[in-house]
Amino acid sequence: MIYLDYSATTPVDDRVLRRFVKQNRMAFANPNSHHALGVFANGVVDAALRSIRKSLLWKGLVVPTSGATEANNLAILGVAKAMAHRGKHMITTAFEHSSVTACFQQLQKEGYEVDIVDHRPDGTVDLDDLKRLLRKDTILVSVAAVQSEIGFLQDLFALGTCVHNHSKALFHTDATQAVGKSNVDLTQADLVSLTAHKLYGLKGVGALLVHKNVSLAPQILGGHSTTVYRSGTPSAPLIDSLAFAIRLALRELPERESVVQQRYLRLASAVDEISGFQFNRTPACLPHIVNFSIDSIAANDLQARLSAHGIMISTQSACRQGDQASLAVLRLFEDEHRAKTSVRVSLSHLTTEEEIDRLMEALKQEVRR
Ligand code: PLP
Repeated sequence: MIYLDYSATTPVDDRVLRRFVKQNRMAFANPNSHHALGVFANGVVDAALRSIRKSLLWKGLVVPTSGATEANNLAILGVAKAMAHRGKHMITTAFEHSSVTACFQQLQKEGYEVDIVDHRPDGTVDLDDLKRLLRKDTILVSVAAVQSEIGFLQDLFALGTCVHNHSKALFHTDATQAVGKSNVDLTQADLVSLTAHKLYGLKGVGALLVHKNVSLAPQILGGHSTTVYRSGTPSAPLIDSLAFAIRLALRELPERESVVQQRYLRLASAVDEISGFQFNRTPACLPHIVNFSIDSIAANDLQARLSAHGIMISTQSACRQGDQASLAVLRLFEDEHRAKTSVRVSLSHLTTEEEIDRLMEALKQEVRR
């Protein structure tokens, strides 16, 4: 089996899994309990949150969540509700994950105004248009750090600076596809979403990083827990495993990035042999997300045929369903056929040269068929 869908989710790192099992035995008590075992579990949570802050050079709060979907909901709906007295205008892009767009759609129904900022040909935000859209009543700008289907990376520092210099709005970034994949500068972000299962951690845990000045309305009610923003019994082993996965990912980032770059170059060097092959990439794209089209094969068909070869790739984002064209490819390249034939291969430091060769061989065979 060849797994090339690492942007949908990653396998858990054995070291993370072993530590999680151990912590489940040791820190199983409710961290909100005041007895000795509860205090111990609470200490594990505190240490993990400190570690996340240190790894990501984050000075504010870390709110553990169930993943990035919950973090995005808390950031967007939480700011909307807490800041409604100041304004109801928000800005986002045409390329966000469904957990971001769904929140904005809901807010629009509730009377909020949402503008979509223009993008440059490489997918990054057009800063002049952003400046033009920012208003006195703008309360939030939300832009994904790395686009999940095509892989273009935004300049978070420039975006955050622009937002802060020209408005009183907060800047949120969904950094789910960026943390652990590339160095990201979070210094100008007010809110950052991330999840463990994209960086070799476990499914079911993520975080929203919240700057000290931000006020948020909690979206899960039930009393104070690890933070005021999210009620419920915190899972010390899961939060600890998130911190550990982040530490490993950042410590090993240079080697991981270098392997991924080599695998991408190997793939790119073989595409001339595949007729009708076209990259859906721009100069702003990172090497681990490789979106392409083969003009003679529809996306779902190609995915199924590669699956029959034992090769797992994806069409669109795993969170969107059905047979539709990729909206991201359609919006960026304005070509419906390209969008309908677009697939995403996502690479990892675990990807071998042989796996790339077998993918390219399978593509050649399917084109000939
Ligand atoms: N944001 C982006 C950019 C993603 O790629 C994903 C997952 O596909 C999510 C959010 C949702 O993350 P989670 O599965 O942790 O809820």
